[in-house]
Amino acid sequence: MYYSPEVLEEVMLRNDIIGVIGEYVPLKKKGSSYFGLCPFHNENTPSFSVNADKQLYYCFGCGAAGNVISFIMQIENYNFVEAVEKLADRAGIQLPKAEFSPEDAKKEKLKERLFELHNAAGRFFYKTLHSLQGREALEYINKRMISQSIQTKFGIGFSPNSRDELFKHLSQKGFSVDEMLKSGLIIENKYKNGYHDRFYNRIMFPIFDVRGRCIAFGGRIIQKGEPKYLNSPETIIFNKKRNLYGINFAKAERKKEIIIVEGYMDMITIYQAGFKNVVASLGTAFSKEHAMLLKKYASDVILVFDSDEAGEKAALRAIPILVDGGLKVKVLQVPNGKDPDEYIKQNGSKEFGKLVLNAVGYMDFKINCAKKLYNLNDMERKMDFTKEAANMISELSSPVERELYAQKVSEQTGVSQKAVEEEVLNIYKKQNMDFKKESEKKRIRNYSQVNNIEKLSNTKGAFEAQKELIYLCASKSEICTRVMEILKPEELRNDVFSQILSYVYNCVIEGKRPEPSEAVNIFTEPDKQKIAANIFVLNTKFEDMGSIVKAVNEEIKIIKKANIDYITSNASTIEEVQEALNLKKQIENFEFKL
Ligand SMILES: [Zn+2]
Repeated sequence: MYYSPEVLEEVMLRNDIIGVIGEYVPLKKKGSSYFGLCPFHNENTPSFSVNADKQLYYCFGCGAAGNVISFIMQIENYNFVEAVEKLADRAGIQLPKAEFSPEDAKKEKLKERLFELHNAAGRFFYKTLHSLQGREALEYINKRMISQSIQTKFGIGFSPNSRDELFKHLSQKGFSVDEMLKSGLIIENKYKNGYHDRFYNRIMFPIFDVRGRCIAFGGRIIQKGEPKYLNSPETIIFNKKRNLYGINFAKAERKKEIIIVEGYMDMITIYQAGFKNVVASLGTAFSKEHAMLLKKYASDVILVFDSDEAGEKAALRAIPILVDGGLKVKVLQVPNGKDPDEYIKQNGSKEFGKLVLNAVGYMDFKINCAKKLYNLNDMERKMDFTKEAANMISELSSPVERELYAQKVSEQTGVSQKAVEEEVLNIYKKQNMDFKKESEKKRIRNYSQVNNIEKLSNTKGAFEAQKELIYLCASKSEICTRVMEILKPEELRNDVFSQILSYVYNCVIEGKRPEPSEAVNIFTEPDKQKIAANIFVLNTKFEDMGSIVKAVNEEIKIIKKANIDYITSNASTIEEVQEALNLKKQIENFEFKL
């Protein structure tokens, strides 16, 4: 789906990048750029820069880069069109209807079919649960005290104990084998002469996306067996890292906090108990994307984990990801080794509400977990614990919080608060120094990572040469006019680079200045936008035209050689190789002149 360049220009013109980003990140002017704390990674010193002239942002810490549209895509977890819509809305612009490219139209059509297919499958499972085949499953669900209305709301169903009933049903409904395979619900058998259902003899939980569309299923076994839970595989409509079970319901609650649990059953019981702002992870570890998704709908999260060792470990793993995502994190531990489902059944929802209210800050939880590992009656061990706790507290960026936790640790250990605070401060200072060094290292690492995306142009130097050549062509039209005659965009052999170079060529032909933020808009995928933005954040300074010409000469040679190497490695006849070698010789003697 796309908008015309004129529409995009209008949207970007009316949404100045400084103003838009300023609504998310406090920015301070420094020279020609604005700086702030990067919203995409956790940091204490600002390495996130926004350039008003180029209308681009760039983070020296994590390498995030792009224009105002990429920023909205990244921070709101939107796709290109959604971001454009949001910005148009912000500026009060009426958008024309977006059009699909033929390729996107095909993809959208498939998605549409897969939503329909999941819908049909969901109905089939629901019907089966309420048929003779589902009797045992229904008994189980009723025994777990899930009310009839909740069963319907969550669309709980049952997949029959045969291997191809869903396959037959979907075929009858007019879905093609290709669509069924792409849905992940049907699998080709191992002899490759037939198809069967992925799920059989399981209680089925439809998984909905934020908009409430069924995009996958989770299946729970009733009797003993492995695996206890089975999820749909990733498909064009289901990305485990970007979805949380129940997010469609939690979102509607518009609460400040969202409760996070481990399993479907816990999620449903908590929802039924009246805490409707609850989600469950989909059997994968917490990801940055999950944190971003949650951040869209809440500022706080309460992690609910079983109070056993596995639960504690899972919570400790999730905490840093959620904290880095900018969420305020609390932890709720269900007492006496129970899971939330059991606890609510035994003690009622009112008691569970008390637990929610009394959830502790994640730092308390971390310190308590650490404390269990040390015998505080032993002098040595007490010292070790105090140091470890000080280390944790030093992660907090607020001095008030650091002081409060230092006080707590002092109370627990008997070490004076002043001593704990000093220990914390020392570590904090040292980490800040390390952080600065580390962020410089990261910047370099990120830079090379971005450069690794396209393997073809990764012959050392070629990537850099292409970037700088495009940059120079975009900044000096007289250079560009000359380069145009010598170098075809296809010779760049990197999709992003060749598209940008032809954009720059077109601008120069039409006599207008190439706009970095416009160049970024050629792409709707965040990865490509990042590479594109990276070209224009280059800040190469040349003393005079002579040194520019020299650089361009070098770059053209490197690019042409890399291209010929590519042709040679793909040549199928000796003649082709010979011709490539001749070309290579010509390049040796080539000299770029204005
Ligand atoms: Zn960053």
